[in-house]
Amino acid sequence: THFGFETISEAQKEKKVGAVFSSVASSYDTMNDLMSLGIHRIWKDHFVRSLNPGSTSGKGWNILDVAGGTGDIAFRMLDHATQVNGDHSTKVTIADINPDMLAEGKKRALASKYADTGRLHFVLGNAESMPSMPSDSVDLYTVAFGIRNFTNKDAALREAFRVLRPGGVFACLEFSHVNSTLFNAVYKRWSFGAIPLIGQLVAGDRDSYQYLVESIERFPAQEEFRAMIGDAGFLVPGLGYENLSGGIASIHRGIKP
Ligand code: SAM
Repeated sequence: THFGFETISEAQKEKKVGAVFSSVASSYDTMNDLMSLGIHRIWKDHFVRSLNPGSTSGKGWNILDVAGGTGDIAFRMLDHATQVNGDHSTKVTIADINPDMLAEGKKRALASKYADTGRLHFVLGNAESMPSMPSDSVDLYTVAFGIRNFTNKDAALREAFRVLRPGGVFACLEFSHVNSTLFNAVYKRWSFGAIPLIGQLVAGDRDSYQYLVESIERFPAQEEFRAMIGDAGFLVPGLGYENLSGGIASIHRGIKP
């Protein structure tokens, strides 16, 4: 049946995404630096600074970092809460579908100053359904470079809406669409030409990086993604998104009313 076919292809997509991230887990951080020429660090720093996680009142935030992988966003948020807001109570739960990515994150956590602080938790799970996360419990939901890999993005947005408390913030950092034709031509040359090649040379895995480049191309443009966030029930403030590096990446935000 049509329905049956769809189920199989969704399962296959999930398996493919799983294989891609298992294969890249150990080289993931180095590859990010090479592929983005280090710029992903600037985007991530900006993302976290703009969210200003943590509170000065002593009551920490409950943050959920979905598709948190090796913890790039989670560590930055804890650092920001602690160093900028003097907040030692904010906690981050990293949820990810891939045990190999989580294992890399756990390794980093053990070697970090957050080992044994109880401020960092790891949960294996699919963003589309997180039954272990109570409704209305999360202050800030972040997802960085994750949502474009989800099979059902609308389901993930609805699940984000469910777990956030009223007034809670959904924030997404993701590759997006470049609107300057000239810059886009240069960028496409880099992503379709150089990235799979770097993948092959450095990680010995051309296919996974080819898949990553294609998934960026298929992800909805800024306005369309903004509408999806609104459809999930979020209030979308102002323009709803901020372009980074000419739209190579963008930050989208929504507030649960
Ligand atoms: N957020 C991290 C960062 O910015 O460095 C990791 C991003 S990595 C490109 C994408 C992550 O999404 C991978 O760790 C992958 O396992 C995870 N992922 C893919 N599909 C998922 C799903 N349906 N639910 C939860 N995580 C998923």
